[in-house]
Amino acid sequence: MSVRLTNVAKSFGAFNVIKDVSMDIPDGGFAVFVGPSGCGKSTLLRMIAGLEETSSGMISIEGQDVTQMEPAKRGVAMVFQNYALYPHLSVFENMAFSLRLARAPKEDVLRRVGEASRILQLDEQLQKKPSQLSGGQRQRVAIGRAIVRQPKVFLFDEPLSNLDAELRVQMRLELTRLHRQLGATMIYVTHDQVEAMTLADKIFVLKGGILQQAGAPLELYDNPDNRFVAGFIGSPAMNFLPARVSGQKDGMATLTLSEGEHSLEAPISQALEIGQAVEIGIRPEHFRLGDSGIKVNVEVAEELGDVSYLYARTVGGREVIVQRQGSRQRLDGTTVCLTADANKILVFDSKGERLR
Ligand code: ATP
Repeated sequence: MSVRLTNVAKSFGAFNVIKDVSMDIPDGGFAVFVGPSGCGKSTLLRMIAGLEETSSGMISIEGQDVTQMEPAKRGVAMVFQNYALYPHLSVFENMAFSLRLARAPKEDVLRRVGEASRILQLDEQLQKKPSQLSGGQRQRVAIGRAIVRQPKVFLFDEPLSNLDAELRVQMRLELTRLHRQLGATMIYVTHDQVEAMTLADKIFVLKGGILQQAGAPLELYDNPDNRFVAGFIGSPAMNFLPARVSGQKDGMATLTLSEGEHSLEAPISQALEIGQAVEIGIRPEHFRLGDSGIKVNVEVAEELGDVSYLYARTVGGREVIVQRQGSRQRLDGTTVCLTADANKILVFDSKGERLR
């Protein structure tokens, strides 16, 4: 079911945690709210769940206004980071809990818990207590508890953050499969941009309670609206270099780096002022090594076989990361020159807004 937020705001006392957020999550979509700690993503999710009241604005699910509706009636199910399992109950009873509470017929309980445990490969674990399970299995039980309720919308609050790196990758794939299998709308909160990129079909980037940009993962990667989104999405992160506008002609701007005399060209059609301070953004994989360009000293080269990362410094001491594909040439301790194609260079104004 589709979820829509219209001008939603939330304050705790004088503190405005969410400032006028509007968003559309399509039916069957996998939406991810991502942003740094404290940006308000959990608060937003809790408002959709009905666990937190909105200060203003409207939340609707499948076209119905649910802003004032109590949580149990909204048709949503939430999966928490700490699993919130009952330690004294078996896996079966943990999953059956909400159905028993709703006095569901015994056959329904058996059937629904059976289905959920098959989907989540928990059939063998049904008689165990949570303490006898691995972290990944516990998380699956928590998801199973949501599945048996057959919600219209699944809400996940950082469900993988207590798992180790390997298990997180595995659970990420399982969540993607689960989403395809159930076809339900899912909304997922994380501060991990890799998780956001891999899970989402639509990412909502938040900062300071303000929605910075919404879009498909690669849309945000290729076409960030501002410096914050550009720097937040992508790993290793985009490189930023301060520069000044030194010319503009026929939709091409010439940008001279503040350090050294090197200039780069970037396609920008909006009018710029000569001398205007800007910041140039270049992704690590978009740097090329050339005979001339931005001079950097390679301090450390990480060789991973198929790919290598050069951790380098400009003459003025600014750190730059370069990603190279397929090359095994040892470059530690050498000086190299970097360039990038004009269409791979992003430019931001002094407020961090993208210049196009
Ligand atoms: P994290 O990733 O650290 O969980 P988040 O983006 O999910 O962060 P929220 O948990 O939504 O952030 O919190 C946003 C801000 O609102 C934080 O500064 C937090 O301290 C504050 N906050 C959250 N709940 C309350 C509350 N009940 N009363 C007062 N302030 C609150």
